Amino acid sequence: MAAKVIDGKAFAATVREKVASHVTRLKEENGITPGLAVVLVGEDPASQVYVRSKGKQTVEVGMNSYEHKLDASTSEADLLALIDKLNNDPAVHGILVQLPLPSHLNSDLVINSIDPAKDVDGFHISNVGLLGTGQKAMVPCTPLGCLMMLRDYHGSLSGMNAVVIGRSNIVGKPMANLLLGDSCTVTIAHSRTKDLAAVVRQADIVVAAVGRPEMVHGDWIKEGATVIDVGINRVDAGEGKTRLVGDVHYESASAVAGAITPVPGGVGPMTIACLLANTLTACCRANGLAEPEGLTA
Ligand code: NDP
Repeated sequence: MAAKVIDGKAFAATVREKVASHVTRLKEENGITPGLAVVLVGEDPASQVYVRSKGKQTVEVGMNSYEHKLDASTSEADLLALIDKLNNDPAVHGILVQLPLPSHLNSDLVINSIDPAKDVDGFHISNVGLLGTGQKAMVPCTPLGCLMMLRDYHGSLSGMNAVVIGRSNIVGKPMANLLLGDSCTVTIAHSRTKDLAAVVRQADIVVAAVGRPEMVHGDWIKEGATVIDVGINRVDAGEGKTRLVGDVHYESASAVAGAITPVPGGVGPMTIACLLANTLTACCRANGLAEPEGLTA
């Protein structure tokens, strides 16, 4: 039987609606408007598109968006000074520095200069540590989106075998920690994993975050497993055109899986929706208010 398609686009719309209605309540009952500051250094075209999209969606859910576009040659001292200003600005509840940064800037230093309470990307070392020790953290947006979709589909994830392919700091590792937090038995696979296909065949849940087009084939997937495809790869579609594919070979995997996220329209739309959710969460925490239900890990 063909797999159920987990519609990330529709799910992201429901997350944005929840955020928007919570923001309306915050404004009416508490006189607070959550604010997200996005810092872009340089003119990387893909980053410009992401930043525009983030700003637009921030405003659409009723939050304030503050965009800071800096020249590619901005010094580290100037960037750190801006972050310090945003850290101390009570109207700013979330700060995101768009990555990658130009090579003369030390990304770790920059990210770790953000107030952890405003670190809506969840990349600050304090948030990494809090997540790793099962404490209340700001959680990276992409894995948070994957977790929300898995919880929505399965209810409880307790006791399930999960295989996360990829061990990056922004997707693989936080994803594994979140699944562990939901009591899955978690395996993290990577480029040195032996017999990856056999490892993946054990999984009730497969999260592919590899960056290799259509690497995970249907014959790696256990019958009925849930497949979350994080990959976004642009490949040649002939006649000078390109198309987006995931890290999973959709056609063969969807013939075996119980449920699967498509690319595009799966994990991708959830990432910005979760950024908005994180900004709302940060705002509620900063003001000692109850956190929005169903929008946090
Ligand atoms: P990274 O390149 O940082 O990490 C890739 C991981 O995949 C590494 O851990 C690497 O292993 C592992 N890997 C590479 N080749 C293989 C292989 N042949 N077999 C097994 N493991 C392998 O990527 P990211 O985590 O940043 O991103 C992964 C994918 O997710 C990309 O396609 C990216 O575009 C996409 N993405 C999508 C987002 C969204 O919003 N939907 C957000 C972020 C990323 P090793 O550590 O051993 O090198």
